[in-house]
Amino acid sequence: MSSAFSLSQWRETARNRLREHGIVDAHHHTLGQSQRRERNPGLWDWLSESYLFLVSIRAAGLEVDKFLDPGVPDNHRAQMLLPILKLTRATTYYRIVWEGLRTAFDFDLNTLDESNWQVLDELIRLANQQDDWFDEILVRRMNQRSGVLDRQVGGTLTDAIMTIGAGDVADWDNYILKVRPTRDANEMAAKTKKRSLDGQPSKASVKIDSLLYGWPQSVRSELQDLFGGNPEEVRDLDGYLNYVDGILEQISADRQLVALKSAIVGVRSLHFPLVDKARAQRVFREPVEHLTAEDVTSFEDFIMNHICRRAGERGLPIQFHTGSPFAGAHPDRYCAPSFLTGLIARCPETRFDLMHGGYPYWGESATLAVRFPNVYLNLAWLTMISDSEARVALRSWLDQVPANKIMWGGDCVFVEETYGTYLVSREQVIDVLGEKISRSEISPDDGLVCLQRIFCDNAKELFAL
Ligand SMILES: [Zn+2]
Repeated sequence: MSSAFSLSQWRETARNRLREHGIVDAHHHTLGQSQRRERNPGLWDWLSESYLFLVSIRAAGLEVDKFLDPGVPDNHRAQMLLPILKLTRATTYYRIVWEGLRTAFDFDLNTLDESNWQVLDELIRLANQQDDWFDEILVRRMNQRSGVLDRQVGGTLTDAIMTIGAGDVADWDNYILKVRPTRDANEMAAKTKKRSLDGQPSKASVKIDSLLYGWPQSVRSELQDLFGGNPEEVRDLDGYLNYVDGILEQISADRQLVALKSAIVGVRSLHFPLVDKARAQRVFREPVEHLTAEDVTSFEDFIMNHICRRAGERGLPIQFHTGSPFAGAHPDRYCAPSFLTGLIARCPETRFDLMHGGYPYWGESATLAVRFPNVYLNLAWLTMISDSEARVALRSWLDQVPANKIMWGGDCVFVEETYGTYLVSREQVIDVLGEKISRSEISPDDGLVCLQRIFCDNAKELFAL
């Protein structure tokens, strides 16, 4: 390396290069422009969707239900929140929201108090109604070229994550066999979340989890709502597989849909062993009162293997939430990425996107990405969980994983938080690449290529964006 090399100059070059080259958000939950206009979030609602709120503020002890109760006066809300918000200032989640609000609205979150929260509230509401707001943040400032929106989550999964571990609902199998059939269909439908793509430079992925537990009659309306067709008429496993295949055919024919997605790890392990067809058929053949936890699990295992095989045949990558779920009672250790090893090995034609680095097991994600050509790593959420852990993981990944296999994702609901996440993640990646350049492990040009690959080209290739 020439002695005239300046790391700070390279860092500036890297930022400019990314600005020109553009980025792809390989996993996000952004609320569509018309959905946001209609919902018209103010400061409290905006905050309630942020990771800062969902993780740090909740963990610090805010009485969340009371805080979000529509009957609580705004000033009382400010009094509840402000002292707790201060306790979260050192967290990466805080820094992301601080960056996002500062760059989007020129508002310094450190100055938030009982006399000025209305200013920020009004700025957010104005942005909701501004026609070119998404363009301003996502296109003009971030140069987002495309992305993969997580389009929906079924009400069953949302309800189960909040229910299991509370009261006498011991686990997922118990929930599916005993609790789910007693739930009111409309209440469950209200818990289903859908995102629209309008206003976003993005394509979408389709969550397949409802198909893993779609055999009870009580879940069929959720299938109909999310995937269409006539799931009510399905009476046996062959009929069910026909239904699943029809859905996968529709997805692969839709140019807006570029991947499948699973977040089932929120309630069960990522171990999906091969199961005999006869074993999986029991859920259709036996009376419900005779079914056991093993029947529920076997059906899920069978369908997951079937879907992953079909995804490979149809060229659809599948995104897996790996690592800690951010809510609920399911232990982290069952969410470790290496549980997916058998499934990955059995489906060499299927490309697997391991999301969130499998945090806190990011080393396991890396060993899978080097053992199997069909495994990719996604930084979504990992860069937000902890700045220091993300840097350690990145250092290790870049030491062992080829540069075509790592992607970045924003993982946020509102574009301002996505912007904050992008700025924080960008500096993490630039810092780690800069260290490698300083040690002459890679050239400054190699560093720029890696940066472009991580933030744009790799996701573009994987999802054919
Ligand atoms: Zn996500």
